[in-house]
Amino acid sequence: MRRTSVPSQLKREVLLEAGHRCAIPTCRQTTLEITHIAPWSKVKEHEFANLIALCPTCHARYHKGEIDRQSMLSYKRNLSILNSRYTDIERRVLDFFASQPEAQYIKLPGGVVIWLWYLIKDGYLVLDGHSSGHKEDEFPNYDLYYLTPAGRELVQKWISAEPIE
Ligand SMILES: [Zn+2]
Repeated sequence: MRRTSVPSQLKREVLLEAGHRCAIPTCRQTTLEITHIAPWSKVKEHEFANLIALCPTCHARYHKGEIDRQSMLSYKRNLSILNSRYTDIERRVLDFFASQPEAQYIKLPGGVVIWLWYLIKDGYLVLDGHSSGHKEDEFPNYDLYYLTPAGRELVQKWISAEPIE
């Protein structure tokens, strides 16, 4: 069977699932290739469950076996869980902690608790500290949101492709 290209609607869904960024949590580049998790040569079809958005670097790493298939399936599953459970802003906060493993907290404008409600409710983030600021501050007033130990564990699982419940 001749290889066909991925239908554009399916492509859009796969890109949307990954937020138009590489699905590898520590990468998140925006130049993307639609990748078959189980190779096209074997499955000979384009199915949402078998497609993931990767940047060319991570795509190449996957083909070289530097990222294994089990991990790739896990990245895909975790994306789906995080997407359905959290808002775009909450996922961006998780992205921040995934890309900066040393960070203890994130500084955000004051009064945006509702934007992060489910991360807080689920015990992954805690509001601690408020400043009504100095002139030189980035924000007129801001809040500090700390990643809890459970939050750290969630980010760690996401990074290392372990299943998130
Ligand atoms: Zn990548």
